[in-house]
Amino acid sequence: MTQAKAFAAFDKTSPLGPFTFERREPLARDVQLDVLFCGVCHSDLHTVKSEWPGTTYPCVAGHEIVGRVTKVGADVKKFKAGDSVAVGCLVDSCRTCSSCKEGLEQYCQGGFQMTYNSPDKHMPGQQTYGGYSTHMVVDEDFCLRVSDKLDLAAVAPLLCAGITTYSPLRHWGVTKGKKVGVVGLGGLGHMGVKFSHAFGAHTVLFTTSAGKAEDAKRLGADEVVISRDQDAMMKHAGSFDVILNTVSASHNLDAFTMLLKRDGTLVLVGVPEVAHPSPNVGVLIFGRRSIAGSLIGGLKETQEMLDFCAEHGIVSDIEKIPMQGINDAYARMLKSDVKYRFVIDMASLRS
Ligand code: NAP
Ligand code: ZN
Ligand code: ZN
Repeated sequence: MTQAKAFAAFDKTSPLGPFTFERREPLARDVQLDVLFCGVCHSDLHTVKSEWPGTTYPCVAGHEIVGRVTKVGADVKKFKAGDSVAVGCLVDSCRTCSSCKEGLEQYCQGGFQMTYNSPDKHMPGQQTYGGYSTHMVVDEDFCLRVSDKLDLAAVAPLLCAGITTYSPLRHWGVTKGKKVGVVGLGGLGHMGVKFSHAFGAHTVLFTTSAGKAEDAKRLGADEVVISRDQDAMMKHAGSFDVILNTVSASHNLDAFTMLLKRDGTLVLVGVPEVAHPSPNVGVLIFGRRSIAGSLIGGLKETQEMLDFCAEHGIVSDIEKIPMQGINDAYARMLKSDVKYRFVIDMASLRS
């Protein structure tokens, strides 16, 4: 076993603070990596503050991880010491159900193991601990290749914010000629804008923060709409093929379903603590519109997304913070003041 240094939440209200714990020695199919950078996802905040059910403390969050391999098990084929690698939201799944067989491990019916806050099958009685830590040990099938052509700190958010927006935009057929809305310009939203633009769609960003309009255009939005301006909203009524909603708080969905074309889809990826008000059924029926959901992405598609980003020079717009700055970063995230993803430089935890 090796000792890892980390930052953990010890209960739902106290600030995160230092914590040490044991990681397993790499097994035959394991990769051990030093964490270089870890993105800060709003899901980390929902989890450490117990806004969703089921948080076990201490909780070491972080599932947007880029690192360097330090050691591999005897049977590892794909990686060697020195490689740049990444780990996202999952570290294992049942591998036998129909979803796993199709490479959709995020929909595993047998139960997947999340990168943090899941029972750790290798360390009985312990939870999985995530990327707010000095190093990790992960099965090679849940480890991804990363191109050294890109800024590794800015790659980290691709592992959740990136794949969670890439996957639904691909699934719902976003291409040139489609009109796509992205709601909320935070970590997920800014990647949604970048991907929608890269896929050639006419991209409209909906925001509550007027001050983000210029950034949204720079990131690839063709138009920006202040979602609290009803007149501006209604100019787009009945016109969208797909709207990707990344908002982290409960709000009225009708304002967006009304903007869909016939057969259009509002895809929800935000998971608010308090449920959204029930949508107006009439708006859905008159227009055969849909409300759908989407969860991160499988390993195959995550690798495809990372390769797409390397080819097209796409990374996240980040603000680097030391591990000790995490509590301030959470406070700013709650004020929608993220431009556009905090990334922890894990050197701060080693020094
Ligand atoms: P984030 O960086 O905090 O961004 C959320 C954005 O939502 C804010 O920047 C803000 O954008 C908007 N917003 C916040 N409060 C709002 C309110 N009350 N009304 C309207 N808009 C509001 O969060 P994130 O990391 O992108 O995560 C977003 C959500 O997705 C979270 O709930 C997270 O847990 C969830 N998530 C889901 C998946 C999945 O697989 N489905 C994966 C990762 C994360 P503006 O300032 O532009 O309005
Ligand atoms: Zn996330
Ligand atoms: Zn499965």
